[in-house]
Amino acid sequence: MSQATSTSGPAGRGLLLVISGPSGVGKSTITRRVLEQLGAELSISVTTRPSSDQDAVGKRYEFVSVEEFHRRREAGHFLESAEVFGNCYGTPREPVERAIAQGRTILLEIDVQGAIQVKKNLAGQPMLGVFILPPTPQTLLERLRSRGREDEATIQRRFSRAQAEMAQARECGVYDAFVVNDQLERAVAETLGVVRARLAGA
Ligand code: 5GP
Repeated sequence: MSQATSTSGPAGRGLLLVISGPSGVGKSTITRRVLEQLGAELSISVTTRPSSDQDAVGKRYEFVSVEEFHRRREAGHFLESAEVFGNCYGTPREPVERAIAQGRTILLEIDVQGAIQVKKNLAGQPMLGVFILPPTPQTLLERLRSRGREDEATIQRRFSRAQAEMAQARECGVYDAFVVNDQLERAVAETLGVVRARLAGA
């Protein structure tokens, strides 16, 4: 049998792979590596937040105005949408439904509120939720500080939201695996292991 990983889900159905985690945990890096290894599709979110230099690496967003976001939401364009730090984020419905219909895996890097909605709105579809955790809360705080992007008040806000999100992730029943990002290579390997096991029908 070929070693190449098929990205079709059990019985050839598409797998919805949801990766979440607090900001600063390193989930974008893990997501990128998982995508490269699996050859899966990435869901491109729509957001009202301003773009930054970092967004040039691996296109993850379509940036729109608040008016345009509301227009699309009212038109039923989104599978889920949420507000994070005062900005709106939404997952376009059509690419996800197409991937599922064609039996392909699609990866959504979204927050817990979004993951809960996806699970509800696409009940019955194969979904795998992976939540990335920092080794300790203190590591996350240090990581947020070392990015040097925000002032201390913003860092504290992000940190307290992160703690609430980690607690919610454990309680909501959406996540199948919790991966601790203590060492990047290990976290990528563990995430890939969980996904491949699911794709193989385990
Ligand atoms: P950032 O602006 O730092 O890229 O993302 C902020 C947060 O929004 C992250 O937790 C990210 O996972 C989440 N996020 C990004 N896109 C979406 C989306 O389409 N829906 C939801 N619910 N959350 C998203």
